Amino acid sequence: MNAKLDSGVTTRPVTRQTFDEVLVPTYAPAAMVPVRASGLDVWDQEGKHYLDFTSGIAVSSLGHCNPVLVDAMTKQINTLWHLGNGYTNEPVLRLGSALTEATFADRAFFCNSGAEANEAALKLARKYAHTKFGPHKSRIISCLSSFHGRTLFTVSVGGQPKYTEGFEPLPQEINHIPYNDIDAARAAILDDVAAVIVEPIQGEGGVIPGNKEYLQALRELCDKTGALLIFDEVQSGVGRTGTLYTYMETGVTPDILTSAKALGNGYPIGAMLTTNAIAEHFNVGSHGTTYGGNPLAATVALNVIETINQPAFLARVKEASAKIFANLDKLSADYPQLFGKARGMGLLIGLPMAEGYKGRAKDLTKVAEGLGLMLLVAGFDVVRLAPALIVSDEQIAEADRIMRAAVEQFLAA
Ligand SMILES: *Cc1c(COP(=O)(O)O)cnc(C)c1O
Repeated sequence: MNAKLDSGVTTRPVTRQTFDEVLVPTYAPAAMVPVRASGLDVWDQEGKHYLDFTSGIAVSSLGHCNPVLVDAMTKQINTLWHLGNGYTNEPVLRLGSALTEATFADRAFFCNSGAEANEAALKLARKYAHTKFGPHKSRIISCLSSFHGRTLFTVSVGGQPKYTEGFEPLPQEINHIPYNDIDAARAAILDDVAAVIVEPIQGEGGVIPGNKEYLQALRELCDKTGALLIFDEVQSGVGRTGTLYTYMETGVTPDILTSAKALGNGYPIGAMLTTNAIAEHFNVGSHGTTYGGNPLAATVALNVIETINQPAFLARVKEASAKIFANLDKLSADYPQLFGKARGMGLLIGLPMAEGYKGRAKDLTKVAEGLGLMLLVAGFDVVRLAPALIVSDEQIAEADRIMRAAVEQFLAA
């Protein structure tokens, strides 16, 4: 008999303290434990309400427990969960068709996270370069302050040394260049480069949009040297910046695009999109993952794409963005000692702390959380806002009220 099952494991009381006792301490979660959510509303164990301007780090873009997704998932849960890659399934075939129709890509590979999508992209780029040009062509160029995930390969490609310290030896032939610096790109992208990977807007690195000229220069340098251009759209994609994928408004088409986060609205799924000519360098057995493209993940992503990739939906993202930017511009004008100028695209927005308050972004978001507004940071110096794309004008006004109250409280402390 299973003693654990008899002892009420599924219902026993747990608290934030339990985290410190039983989970590996890789995170420092907030003091409150959310238990329930709907749209942009979240409630904690005490029944306290919060307005969520994080979307779980740009994930729940259609809001928590979105009814369309709940309905589609409930049907699928009662129909078919998982098969393994010895069989394909209808939802994944529909999802692959939808994504390739909506983008530059001809082919999709599905996995479970952003890191895995980038891992697939980087492996495919190396395989392509080695087969087409030879083993000397293996260098990967990435940007300083970039973030591409936490597997050993993706964390080495990411441009934040603090995340690789202690994990050596690291994968080789990876170089980092300053973001938005065309001269540095020109000096680094030479004939031995297999791939250049870039976020069209850096998320974790501080919400820094890539210049169009810069992204265009990367495209030209890749064309000249035969390197593949990978756009990491794990955070920027799926409508977050006001287009289905951000590349669509840069005038630059990548060779490989990675997507995750909002693609599943909270259900894990990642995707790597590419062209026929590149995809053919992976063949049966080259790469894979047990859960990739399973019917549940594919069902939710299909409904997410179907909902978001509508002109009216995307136009509203830009409208909501303009309203939040107007509020933030006014906020930083009222508190110039505290904030710099807000930046970002669509509903991925960074509000940098001014010189005298560097390192204090998290402190400010904690005050806001106490007042019922959930916010993110990007590094130590930037408050990041990433509300669900369905955010209403009322919720935008409410967030502004709470932020102003938080600022007053923060300055008074
Ligand atoms: C979050 C993120 C990743 C990693 O995604 P995971 O799902 O956490 O593995 C990769 N790239 C970018 C740009 C991200 O924002």
